[in-house]
Amino acid sequence: MKYALPILSLMALAACQTATITAPEPAPAAQQPAAVSAPEGRPLTAGQWLFGSAEAQIMMAQSWNRIAAYAEAGAAARPEYSVILAPGATAEAPEFLACGEKPLAAVFDVDETLIWNLGSAGAFRRMGIEFDPEIWGEWERTGAGKAVAIPGALEGVERIRKAGVEIILNTNREAANVAGNIETIREAGFGDYVHGETLFLKGDTPGGSAKDGRRYAISENYCVIALVGDQLGDIADIFNDKSLSPAARRDLAAAPAFDRLWDDGWFILPNPTYGPFEGSSMEEIFPPETYWAPASKE
Ligand SMILES: [Mg+2]
Repeated sequence: MKYALPILSLMALAACQTATITAPEPAPAAQQPAAVSAPEGRPLTAGQWLFGSAEAQIMMAQSWNRIAAYAEAGAAARPEYSVILAPGATAEAPEFLACGEKPLAAVFDVDETLIWNLGSAGAFRRMGIEFDPEIWGEWERTGAGKAVAIPGALEGVERIRKAGVEIILNTNREAANVAGNIETIREAGFGDYVHGETLFLKGDTPGGSAKDGRRYAISENYCVIALVGDQLGDIADIFNDKSLSPAARRDLAAAPAFDRLWDDGWFILPNPTYGPFEGSSMEEIFPPETYWAPASKE
């Protein structure tokens, strides 16, 4: 569609963009929409939606219902291949780990997948900061009881267990804080997890926050039929290549070899409060061909 525009329109468009991009005029605080900057003493809009809205509650419950139904069907069908990408696999040459006779498992991220970190999110907001790794470490050690189960998650996990599928957690919470992390998960109602068996933490395998190493370790003992998280790194590290622009990352996720797995082994839950999508430019989110300005305000 954009290529069909007359040259003159394109030139006019380009002129408008240049003016806007090089000389942004910040609106007075009172005129800024709430979505950009929440007033002091209020949660940010993304947090209000995720943690407070009926819409998010419904979306989470329906996602968890779908994940549980998928795992129940997978348990009955017993697949030949796991949904974990084999080492070196690409969108052009997708390969998945073979299941053999291994018992079935579903692998979940923890933060903003099983639990909402209301305690730390509230503390950061009250302090007026987005994130602080030191404070987050303290949260991992002492936050038990202040993180809550996501709507639908407890019921979903219970159904998956009943279907004979092991629940395994693969989180970037630190192995050094294992006791606090286990307690936080328990206090949120998910029961007990065993480090190195049903709980994998950052530091368990080389690669820092990259989770493929831990996925391979889990695959030594299990056939993984579902991967669930709030970020693509919970599915495969290939999506976390730092050189990928938001558009290139979307394209990679939609590559035919990967596209067929969404909602069919790979599941993403919504989290607008933080993630690898942050840091996008105006041009990446509002592409030039969509540029519009109200004539009434010029
Ligand atoms: Mg997460």
